[in-house]
Amino acid sequence: MRVAKEDTVKIIAGNDKGKTGKVLKVFPGKERIIVEGVNFIKRHTKARSRMEPGGIIEKEAPIHVSNVMVVCPRCGAGVRPRRTTLAEGKRARICSKCNEIIGKV
Ligand SMILES: [Zn+2]
Repeated sequence: MRVAKEDTVKIIAGNDKGKTGKVLKVFPGKERIIVEGVNFIKRHTKARSRMEPGGIIEKEAPIHVSNVMVVCPRCGAGVRPRRTTLAEGKRARICSKCNEIIGKV
């Protein structure tokens, strides 16, 4: 996965194209992510009791990672992070434009 939790991503396809948001959850096996405020779906629920009235719940639905680009915290560009190995032997993702490390190492 080239996108990690807590990353800021820009949506490049679909109804929410152009929006940016924080990654709330990643599903590595499915290559899908949930982005804060993006891809709301409306779910209609039936009233179960007086305490639980029915209605429409809006919730973020997962989107495919190919629909987003990671936003570099330093240069602000939407980039495809490169993977690299640092001097200490740690793996990191870096911005392909300014070489800033993105996310946790
Ligand atoms: Zn950058």
